[in-house]
Amino acid sequence: MSNSTQTNKDWNWVGRFVAVIVVALILANAIGSMDLFVKTFVIEGKLSAAHLVRFLGYSTALGALWMLGQRATMSLQQHGGRWSFMQHLILPVVTLIVVASTNSVALLIMKPMMNTSLNNIYNWVFIVAILACAVWVVMAVLGQSASLTEAFTSAAERMGASAKTKVCAACGTSNEAASKFCKQCAKELPDTAA
Ligand SMILES: [Zn+2]
Repeated sequence: MSNSTQTNKDWNWVGRFVAVIVVALILANAIGSMDLFVKTFVIEGKLSAAHLVRFLGYSTALGALWMLGQRATMSLQQHGGRWSFMQHLILPVVTLIVVASTNSVALLIMKPMMNTSLNNIYNWVFIVAILACAVWVVMAVLGQSASLTEAFTSAAERMGASAKTKVCAACGTSNEAASKFCKQCAKELPDTAA
């Protein structure tokens, strides 16, 4: 019971990161749709105060999401448990989401300053970054599938081993499948595995 309380405490920070993400998104949308911000321009007709507010809110949320992924990875490395197989997968997946979202978030303030050729360069930077993240995810899955195979193999081995033990009829001790006499009471064991 103290163990599960400890686990809960270790994962409390998740709620705080999620709260930061939600509050940042709500504020960005609420303030970003106020007339005062929509109709006040940094660059006349192109970049409004609302664009700036949305950019700040969304990038805060993305930053918090990435930090959440990093903390989750560290926690899984330290505490393991049955979710430890996720530890190599969380960060690449979160990074892919963050990079893909950053593309449109950064456009909020970049678009008014870019001409067609800059826009093309901008797109290619994100295409390369997103593909790199996708490759990272695939590598993580491949690495994990190796250790998943290992986990399944050892579980199967253990089950096989327990099926191949001989239980002594006299004292109940488990003996190796090949043994002829009980290691506990030395009584003769039957030839077939129990
Ligand atoms: Zn025995």
